[in-house]
Amino acid sequence: MDKGIGIAGIAGRMGRLLAEEVLAAGAKLVGGIDRPGVDAQGATLFADIAALAAAADVVLEFAHASAVAAHAPAMAAAGTAWVLGTTGLSAADEAAVARAAERIAVVYAPNFSAGVTLVLALAERMAAALPAEQYDAEIVEMHHRQKVDAPSGTAIGLGRAVAKGRGVELEAVKQSGRDGHTGARRTGAIGFATLRGGQVVGEHTLLFAAAAEHIAITHRAFDRRAFAAGAVRAALWTRGRPPGLYSMMDVLGISQAR
Ligand code: NAD
Repeated sequence: MDKGIGIAGIAGRMGRLLAEEVLAAGAKLVGGIDRPGVDAQGATLFADIAALAAAADVVLEFAHASAVAAHAPAMAAAGTAWVLGTTGLSAADEAAVARAAERIAVVYAPNFSAGVTLVLALAERMAAALPAEQYDAEIVEMHHRQKVDAPSGTAIGLGRAVAKGRGVELEAVKQSGRDGHTGARRTGAIGFATLRGGQVVGEHTLLFAAAAEHIAITHRAFDRRAFAAGAVRAALWTRGRPPGLYSMMDVLGISQAR
């Protein structure tokens, strides 16, 4: 990396850890952007995403979904690679990310830990092997009380992996927030349950429940460093990479089921 790595959301929980991990990886930290008045702990603050993108080879973004639609064209115009970890994106936000990926390398992942990336690959394979008519898929997640979006991006990623394994669209089968007289469970539905409390960094369980057996796979993150280290690895991986929308599976070289 000639110029170095920039961070959008540099004063946040993830941003501060990312700054440490960039330096721990022996890379150069050019600085970042955040909201006015925040404590960036001595890092250089740029005026906006365009200024940061011009100064960096790659920008790590872990900020807020409301920033993504404006940041996507700015990143594309600068020709700077983008590692996007922000969750809670709308379909329109994701379309803006896909448009940017026509011009720059974008690594977009709901979870940058190696463990969850493997779980996502396994989820797709399990879903492809277990008939949806017999195995009810439920996803349970718990996070700290400050988290603003639900279900978590990782839970939605798990749902997408199951849907992909079953050859359906998640939006057509998603069932979240059950309350009151919901009626019987729909065959083929992918259910979500969200817990919030304390300072849980991130817990996800994918359960396939059949009449005669249950199969569950659980990931627990104890330290955000699992995400930060993976994101910095993704940032270094973008060097020389052609434009495209990449996932953490591409970074780790994990092949997908189909
Ligand atoms: P946080 O609230 O601690 O930090 C977010 C930071 O972004 C804050 O400093 C805030 O001031 C800043 N910010 C908000 N809007 C901004 C804007 N328009 N421009 C620049 N900066 C802005 O949150 P966090 O726990 O660090 O998480 C940040 C995001 O990353 C969330 O969407 C979270 O779900 C996601 N996340 C993703 C992963 C992953 O592996 N993909 C892991 C952890 C968190």
